[in-house]
Amino acid sequence: MKVPFITKAQAEEIIEKYPTPFHIYDEKGIRENARNLYKAFSWNKGYREFFAVKATPNPYILKILKEEGCGVDCSSLTELMMSECCGFSGSDIMFSSNVTPEEDMKKAHELGAFINLDDITHIEFLEKLCGLPETIFCRFNPGGHFELENKIMDDPGDAKYGFTKEQIFEGFRILKSKGVKHFGIHAFLASNTVTNNYYPKLAKILFELAVELKNETGADIKYINLSGGVGVSYLPDVPQNDIFAIGEGVHKAFDEVLVPAGMGDVAIFTELGRYMLAPYGHLVTKCIHQKHIYKEYIGCDACACNLMRPAMYGSYHHITVLGKEKAPCDHKYDVTGGLCENNDKFAIDRMLPEINIGDILVIHDTGAHGFAMGYNYNGKLRSAELLLKEDGSVQLIRRAETPSDYFSTFDFTGILDKYIEK
Ligand SMILES: *Cc1c(COP(=O)(O)O)cnc(C)c1O
Repeated sequence: MKVPFITKAQAEEIIEKYPTPFHIYDEKGIRENARNLYKAFSWNKGYREFFAVKATPNPYILKILKEEGCGVDCSSLTELMMSECCGFSGSDIMFSSNVTPEEDMKKAHELGAFINLDDITHIEFLEKLCGLPETIFCRFNPGGHFELENKIMDDPGDAKYGFTKEQIFEGFRILKSKGVKHFGIHAFLASNTVTNNYYPKLAKILFELAVELKNETGADIKYINLSGGVGVSYLPDVPQNDIFAIGEGVHKAFDEVLVPAGMGDVAIFTELGRYMLAPYGHLVTKCIHQKHIYKEYIGCDACACNLMRPAMYGSYHHITVLGKEKAPCDHKYDVTGGLCENNDKFAIDRMLPEINIGDILVIHDTGAHGFAMGYNYNGKLRSAELLLKEDGSVQLIRRAETPSDYFSTFDFTGILDKYIEK
């Protein structure tokens, strides 16, 4: 069962001030979840979560996570700039980029971020650009398939990221010879895993690699970054991950591999995005049209521009019709947006209660990779983002785009001046 964190009455009150569609985030849920994550890894002295900014790039969200002790994981110049303005600096920032432009790398270096190199050629790139810092991370790609419980979870061998095993040994030797003092290892091998075994298995691979790297290169490995990939269950009947079981699984691998190797002081880092935010966001939209042709259609005022995952990945997002939580799901609908693209559907053949024009729909689990993946196709404007605060009040944390925003990059031409606010 998925229960929205807002009621129909609350939604109606919010809509009076902030029209649909909008994304809304649940501060209480975000904080509780972050605290549990820290509890689950409290056995590790240096543990830190670096929130993957790309999942929900909003300064108000970043500040909440900062208060909960999180750092940030950035991969671009603007993510670094936003993090800087939210008060993150130095070791609060992990810079895990790829195909990195010079100016992005320079900014990360200027902020004193932990730099996570994606490729062996980036050693020379960074050295020429800014010089090498004392501490450096390298991203590892073991190649092949990543399997769990005899099931292929993902294919690192087809992924563009990271150093091969040979390259990471060579890279560590080069970096050491150039005076780098401390090292971190990072890997991201499977996305949105709904199993308590992903992190423990990844941890074991990285811990064993760390022991080998230390023995063969003499490198001082201080950090192991398990990156993102711990997922959430988008389906109502599939249980969520148990973060305490995950933390304990990593603890066990730590005690089995690192402690006997004399590496019991290694700090564990994570760069979770989805796990930190997805369940604590809703996309709220109104039914504005109904259509009865070969199928039954519900037309919403939100579209794939507000939430791309169903159109892009065919992802399931649960839908609740507010006020009809207990009504029987005896109508089969395609729930669509208004793009001139037939994949603009939030749900296909979904059994839902009867929907009327004006009904408010909550699309669940949109807190990560939701608003963030938004775009402007068909001239659709990005929605507002709201925060349901712990005291029950609602704060605007990003205003909705206006036509003026949409046209603003023509401000040098004069052609759209009629619609550009000056
Ligand atoms: C996307 C990404 C993350 C976050 O991934 P989630 O699946 O949202 O947890 C973390 N680190 C890196 C380098 C990423 O690209």
